[in-house]
Amino acid sequence: YAGKKPTQSISDSMNAMKVGDFQSMPVVVSESLSVYDAICHMFLEDVGTLFVVDKSSFLTGVLSRKDLLRATIGNKETEKVPVHIIMTRMPNITYCTKQDTLLMASKLMIDKQIDSLPVIQDRGDGLEVVGRITKTNITAAFLSLADDHEL
Ligand code: ADP
Repeated sequence: YAGKKPTQSISDSMNAMKVGDFQSMPVVVSESLSVYDAICHMFLEDVGTLFVVDKSSFLTGVLSRKDLLRATIGNKETEKVPVHIIMTRMPNITYCTKQDTLLMASKLMIDKQIDSLPVIQDRGDGLEVVGRITKTNITAAFLSLADDHEL
């Protein structure tokens, strides 16, 4: 148990976990990208969600694996369909900031039944995407609690 914190302090540690300490790099694409190219991008970047941004790099949409599958079923011309047609769009996007607690981000993902959240910074005239929180980040954080405490 050398160097481990007592079990009792787990709740303090949980409340101290911030999105900014566990987030991953966001992968963003432009609104005019085709569904076909978005699928290639998702594979190459090895992510489950792409964030869509406008010309000012502000968040406008989210593309999940199933969004892309749905758009592909029964449509052979995915090269011709831009992602802005099929994405989930603002203002229906759930997001968080670096300063939010990981607990809050977990609750948003479970309540909204989504796999990831964009981490944003409000620039006044739009939301800049600065990170990504996924269920994998939450699992890593969960494990770090066990590593840091006597269980
Ligand atoms: P999948 O669709 O592959 O199961 P998700 O559960 O993350 O992946 O996405 C479910 C639906 O919710 C999709 O239509 C997706 O566009 C949308 N979605 C994903 N993340 C968000 C988010 N942060 N805010 C709003 N909608 C989202």
